[in-house]
Amino acid sequence: MSEDLNNGKVLNTRMVPFRSLALYMIFWGVSVVLFHIITDWMLVERDATLSRLHLLSEIVFGMGSGLVAYGLLARNSVQIKQLKAALQESEDKFSEYVEDTTGARVLERKLTKRVVEESEQRYRSLFDTHPDMVFSCDLEGNFIEANAACVAVSGYTLEEALHHSFSQFLYPEDAPEVKYRFQRTIDEGEVQHYRCRIVHRDGHVILLDVTNIPIFVEDRVMGVYGIAKDITDEVHTREEFAETKELLESFFASTTDAIYLIDNQGIVCKVNEAFERIYGWSAEEIIGQNFSLLVPPGRQEEMRKLNEHLDCQEHLTDYETVRMRKDGSLFDVSITVSVIRDQNGQRVALAGIGRDITERKRVESALREIEYRYRLITEHTSDIIAIYDQDQIIQYVSPRVDQIFGYSADDYIGTNNFDHLHPDDFGEIMERLDSLYRTGESVRIVFRQRHADGHYVWLETMVMPVFDLHEQVIGLVVIARDNTERRRTEELLRKSDKLAVVGQLAAGVAHEIRNPLTSIKGFAQLMKNRLPEYNHYLDIMLSELDRIEFIMNEFLVLAKPQAVKFVKTDLQELLGDIVALLETQAIINNVQIITEYEDNLPNITCETNRLKQVFINVMKNAIEAMPDGGNLRIRTERAGADLVRVRVLDDGCGIHPERIPKLGEPFYTTKERGTGLGLMVSYKIIKDHQGDIRFKSRLGEGTTVEVELPIIQDSKNVLTVGDVG
Ligand code: ADP
Ligand code: MG
Repeated sequence: MSEDLNNGKVLNTRMVPFRSLALYMIFWGVSVVLFHIITDWMLVERDATLSRLHLLSEIVFGMGSGLVAYGLLARNSVQIKQLKAALQESEDKFSEYVEDTTGARVLERKLTKRVVEESEQRYRSLFDTHPDMVFSCDLEGNFIEANAACVAVSGYTLEEALHHSFSQFLYPEDAPEVKYRFQRTIDEGEVQHYRCRIVHRDGHVILLDVTNIPIFVEDRVMGVYGIAKDITDEVHTREEFAETKELLESFFASTTDAIYLIDNQGIVCKVNEAFERIYGWSAEEIIGQNFSLLVPPGRQEEMRKLNEHLDCQEHLTDYETVRMRKDGSLFDVSITVSVIRDQNGQRVALAGIGRDITERKRVESALREIEYRYRLITEHTSDIIAIYDQDQIIQYVSPRVDQIFGYSADDYIGTNNFDHLHPDDFGEIMERLDSLYRTGESVRIVFRQRHADGHYVWLETMVMPVFDLHEQVIGLVVIARDNTERRRTEELLRKSDKLAVVGQLAAGVAHEIRNPLTSIKGFAQLMKNRLPEYNHYLDIMLSELDRIEFIMNEFLVLAKPQAVKFVKTDLQELLGDIVALLETQAIINNVQIITEYEDNLPNITCETNRLKQVFINVMKNAIEAMPDGGNLRIRTERAGADLVRVRVLDDGCGIHPERIPKLGEPFYTTKERGTGLGLMVSYKIIKDHQGDIRFKSRLGEGTTVEVELPIIQDSKNVLTVGDVG
């Protein structure tokens, strides 16, 4: 636009001379005519000269006034030009201004629109995201709009709720009140605030805190806004809290334990009834007093330590101590103390619970006394007493196990001992225990349990159940007696029965056999001399006959008392003779005989030859048990005031623990050429001497035979034997 304007200016400037000339001509013409008219009017009827002069003056005047007009015009044209430019400029400015002002109005309109939109948006987002339910209703109470919280709280979708009356969502009982409030909001234009219940879509009841606000349009209520908050949980929690508080208070009042609060200065602030009863102070008397009044004088230091403990530990649980009543009497109490802190973590008070344990202490000490007595009995009885818990684990076993099994009580505690039982007895033990658990009745079980050195000890046990208050078996008490001795006696009886039978048989048979045997032997001897070509066979016959004769002689030992004589004998000498006798056999078997005799052993009264037979049998067995050689030790020692003991130790093959009871039975042998009579005869001889013979053995490690003999024989016995002789 401004460019066009400029072009216009250039054009006007160029045109000025032509236009001015034309104007000049016009002005000139007009001036001449005017002058002529005026002069004509003034100079009517003048002469010719005057007419020519007149014409000239007319021309001069015309030219002069034309020139003046032109000058004026030229000046005017510049002014016009300037005016025009100014006009143009102001026109430009104006249009610019107009332009500007129109833009601002548009902008203003836009701005206003944006503000409206924004506030609308703000309203919407406030509406939509408000955590409380926000809704609006028309005058009939139908929902017009509702926010997300309405959906979340009620469980209904917007489609289900909008354009429906609020009354159909109400808890029926509350409907009249809510409708009344709604109507008031509309009629009076009043804000209403109240609580009501609605029913969730899934049926549960929700408690709401509701505000109704009238919507005014030009002073008329056109609808109602509602804001509602779900306070179900809050009310619930408050109710629960009140309930808990009530409970706590009733607990505080009615518990049998003393409860008290002490402030930081040690002043008692609150106590319950039980406290009054246990500590013997009424609440009025003790509240406001220092707690140290309740602590016996000697225990103030302990108090200080407890306080220190509470400073870093927060709690003190079941601490047993002594407190003092108002009358100065002392009582046992178990206390539990907790530190109470304020919000900043500062210790403000101590809460204590005290339980009177005088009675418990009394019972405990009575129990301890009873336990002590029982312990005395269990630890000194010769029986073993064991206590098992409900998992059949040993909790206690009397110290005597040590002597019977070679294990200490501690070795058994915490185990069930099953792997010490003899495998053959295990089944029966379990059966019996089953019956005990079934019937609740005690059972008697006889079984074998392993000794530390491997052999089994026979036990006769009474197993008794221990019941709890509900008649459930919660443990077992076992009283066990070492039965080995008894069984050995029984065994001996059994053996001696056998011996008696064998003896009777032998008495008859031996006599019958001996005579024919003598003839056979004599004839064989005779034939040996006569028939040298059969010597080989006859030698065998004779040696077999010797064996038969030997067996016969052994039988006769059992059959009837021999002509025996008890004499005082030096045991060392007797053993020396036997060692000399067996030396050769020992050397052949690569066995070394070592003798360890105790000095100054007294002589013993015995039947020397018979006793020799015993030691020959025992030592021969020992040598035979060491086919690859070894040591054979012979030890003598005093075994008491009236006893001596001879021990024969070998490191041969050993005897299986189960076989030991069989030793001494007739014909029990493990050797190809054995008779199984050696030990039988030995047992008999030792028995006749009122002594004892015992075997201890570990398979693969060796055997010890212990022979105990009385130093002086019972005179009756000596006499009897003498009589027989
Ligand atoms: P025999 O020697 O004829 O076999 P015994 O009555 O003397 O008969 O011995 C019976 C059995 O006892 C023997 O066969 C052997 O098995 C066992 N016995 C006795 N003493 C020992 C020993 N010291 N070491 C190993 N076994 C032994
Ligand atoms: Mg033998």
